[in-house]
Amino acid sequence: MNFHVLTLFPKMVMQGLDASILGRAVQKGYISLEAVNIRDYTVDRHGKADDYPYGGGAGMLMQAQPVYAAWQAVTKKIAEGHLASDNHSRKGEESRTPRVIYTTPQGRVFDQSLAEELAREKDLIFLCGHYEGIDERVLEAIVTDQVSIGDYVLTGGELPAMVMIDCISRLVPGVLKNEESAEYESFHDSLLEYPQYTRPEIWEGKAVPSILLSGDHARVDRWRLEQAEERTRLRRPDLYEIHTREKKALAFLEKDRLGHMDMIEVIRKKQAKIRYADENGVLLYDLPSKAWMVSAADEDMGERLLSRIPRDCPDPLFAVHQPFLRDSICRRFGAEEVNTCLQAVYTKKKPLPEPEGFTICVPDEAELPIIREAYGTLEPEAYLLERIRSEKMLAIRENGKLAAFAGFHAEGSMGMLHVLEAYRGRGMATALETRLINIFLDNGDVPFCQVFEGNQASLALQKKLGLRLAPGRIYWIS
Ligand code: SAM
Repeated sequence: MNFHVLTLFPKMVMQGLDASILGRAVQKGYISLEAVNIRDYTVDRHGKADDYPYGGGAGMLMQAQPVYAAWQAVTKKIAEGHLASDNHSRKGEESRTPRVIYTTPQGRVFDQSLAEELAREKDLIFLCGHYEGIDERVLEAIVTDQVSIGDYVLTGGELPAMVMIDCISRLVPGVLKNEESAEYESFHDSLLEYPQYTRPEIWEGKAVPSILLSGDHARVDRWRLEQAEERTRLRRPDLYEIHTREKKALAFLEKDRLGHMDMIEVIRKKQAKIRYADENGVLLYDLPSKAWMVSAADEDMGERLLSRIPRDCPDPLFAVHQPFLRDSICRRFGAEEVNTCLQAVYTKKKPLPEPEGFTICVPDEAELPIIREAYGTLEPEAYLLERIRSEKMLAIRENGKLAAFAGFHAEGSMGMLHVLEAYRGRGMATALETRLINIFLDNGDVPFCQVFEGNQASLALQKKLGLRLAPGRIYWIS
């Protein structure tokens, strides 16, 4: 993971992150850190990088020009680095422009799930504001994420960037000596960590809980979970509520793990809001895809879950697991388009060997009309364009022409796989899906896809690659 910090105070960042675990991680090459002085990029002959705000008001604002020039220099350097290492890079993904995080009290509040998401990137650029902030125009031009570290105002973005870099770095493999420790800490599983003790066994008359000395690991694990739950319930009822919902939802969904892998994964990745869960059904709202995902044990429960979906939600999208839910949604929302899919899941942990002879890249925006024509009207054009722009699609070209493509859907499944007619029968679909599966595994995710009922070619491919087919159906309704 490479961190690039755009700042007016580079020393503050470099010195602040130089010690202890992060200092060692930099030395060992698990992470790299550079602080770029925005002032070095100003064209002002006095080295000025700020000015008075138009319209008046207190304080100074950082100017657009030096910020933009510093960003250009960093992205150019990153791109050149990627070109140099392209032969070693496996994912088409890795060559894209890095995310730019502007630290601001106006942004989404940083939390562990955002840290986990960002830890998957190869390069991250942090932009630190100072004084009264930064000219809005350059923020619009380069920033992909606006992130706050809490509802209070600091003098600059350096401390927030350092907080985030510290937290993200701990999730980078190798940075912590014992990789388990990041996995069992507070916020993992939406729980605070259990209490911990070290020597001596008795301190000031207080003894360590005897169970921790028992040597019975299963009992210790149970005790720790109970302690974590109790502590979270008392100290953070908001988190405890999320934890109990997740537990209930997973208890229901795990009864048919293959069939519910779509819902299990969005919960595990913390990208969905659980609107309701009990032993008879689950209702989720997936944030990236804006899809309502529903599964119910019986019609009664189905009706109760569906009644929680606001009637007036614009362009609703549903992924439901039972035919009675499909029928009820069509009645309630007057839905017209139903796609019936089978879910296939790659349950092994081992990456697949990648077929040789294919160069996998990311498609170009200019190739959208070909993708659109080949893939038909299965997805709206705006959605395909967004997938291309966010580099969630992969492609194979032959003689410079697009031959095949595939990608990641917003909710997390792989799909959109298509080989143009002239290029069929050469193993391109296998190559693309193999790459997608291996990217999932690299990210610690479970690869799964949803195949349109009746698509025999796709079903044969899933079988060939070793995916397991769930017995039920998923109905996508828009
Ligand atoms: N005028 C700005 C506003 O009201 O949104 C606040 C500017 S603040 C004094 C200066 C800089 O500190 C910001 O541009 C931002 O980079 C950083 N900053 C301040 N508080 C922050 C917070 N809670 N989270 C992240 N960054 C923060």
